[in-house]
Amino acid sequence: MSRGYDYLVVGAGFAGAVLAERLARAAGKRVLLIDRRDHIAGNAHDYYDAHGVLIHKYGPHIFHTNSDVVFEYLSRFTAWHAYEHRVLSMVDGQLVPVPINLDTINAIYGLALTEAEAEEFLRSVAEPVGEVRTSEDIIVSRVGRLLFEKMFRGYTRKQWGLEPRELDATVAGRIPFRTNREARYFTDRHQAMPARGYTALFEAMLDHPDIDIELGVSYEEARRMAHRELIFCGPVDEFFGHALGRLPYRSLRFEFDTAEGGLRQPTGTINYPNDHAYTRTTEFKHLTGQASAYSTICTEYPQAEGDPYYPIPRPDNAALYQRYAELARATPGVHFVGRLGTYRYYNMDQVVAQALTLFERLTGLPALTGLAEPAAAPAAG
Ligand code: FAD
Ligand code: UDP
Repeated sequence: MSRGYDYLVVGAGFAGAVLAERLARAAGKRVLLIDRRDHIAGNAHDYYDAHGVLIHKYGPHIFHTNSDVVFEYLSRFTAWHAYEHRVLSMVDGQLVPVPINLDTINAIYGLALTEAEAEEFLRSVAEPVGEVRTSEDIIVSRVGRLLFEKMFRGYTRKQWGLEPRELDATVAGRIPFRTNREARYFTDRHQAMPARGYTALFEAMLDHPDIDIELGVSYEEARRMAHRELIFCGPVDEFFGHALGRLPYRSLRFEFDTAEGGLRQPTGTINYPNDHAYTRTTEFKHLTGQASAYSTICTEYPQAEGDPYYPIPRPDNAALYQRYAELARATPGVHFVGRLGTYRYYNMDQVVAQALTLFERLTGLPALTGLAEPAAAPAAG
């Protein structure tokens, strides 16, 4: 096309897809969206496996948010299947709830405390920590050393290849603790899965005449396509040719095991903090509510090499990222966004919110411009 694109968007995950959609539909821009993978939806990509089970290619993705704006925005493109995630952790041969709650405390300590007693009990086992800086600090200061050793230390070592004291408090601090019997993993206002899956949600978002999509194409190949502005959702250090050094990322290997029949685990996810090379197993049918003759379980094996899935929150990495962020600010016409573009351990809803904010900044338009139609009705069941 002769006049070129207004925006080249690199990366068809949540960050890139939200910006492509908003810039085209709300601001009338011509957008070229590319991804070096052969599919849209980034790490949220899902598909039907050989047995017809809807699975998540890059590990289990559970949607939850406290943002009404994010939920309203996505509801324009999907109906929802209500789902509240639950996780059990295998500790000393028994399955106990995560986040830690009254039942976890009683099971691990062999007690029969009430809620009020559990509060007092945790106060007695919690270790005072001056300034809470690390993932060890935050857990031992909340629930004490025994629960830290049994439920957090081994899991964190496996997941990150680091000791909890080498990671920011925000990592293990993602998991709350409770003294009541609340057993849901998340307590966000909105908790639901896209009724027909994430990939279908992305297809609806990107179905617009002013969005061209090219898959299996890297930024290196696409950069010669005429465009005014660039939105980059890949790793920020890669964009700058690792000029300041490599930002570390943690990767995973996924194993999928499909068997005929009903559900094989009692909750969506089981964590294995202490044994095995894997951290957790997730059975997709719990999440999706799919009625299928088969069921697939995904097992996650953390590893150093491979796709960059997790930025690693610790002070030296944050300092290196800040230097890349300075380079980014000094690069006109290029906007970095998303989990890799801004090196932030963000959930999907946080990435959507970040992308909507960038859209507002780029165009001066309110985030939900042009989405007057009512939100899609929730799916039955
Ligand atoms: P991505 O989805 O990673 O998209 C970036 C895209 O850019 C990729 O598709 C990549 O191929 C492409 N790309 C990168 N560089 C280039 C290049 N040079 N040229 C072309 N293309 C390029 N969040 C939740 O809210 N709930 C969950 O339960 C949850 N579970 C998760 C489980 C796992 C195992 C992982 C790894 C993440 C999980 N997340 C979850 C986080 C969620 O995946 C991210 O928040 C979200 O997908 C980030 O979107 P993004 O667009 O920033 O990045
Ligand atoms: N974590 C842990 N034990 C658990 C669950 C979580 O030690 O049973 C720690 C671990 O460091 C993990 C972090 O808390 O990486 C965040 O857990 P979350 O389930 O939010 O991780 P994600 O789903 O993002 O992989």
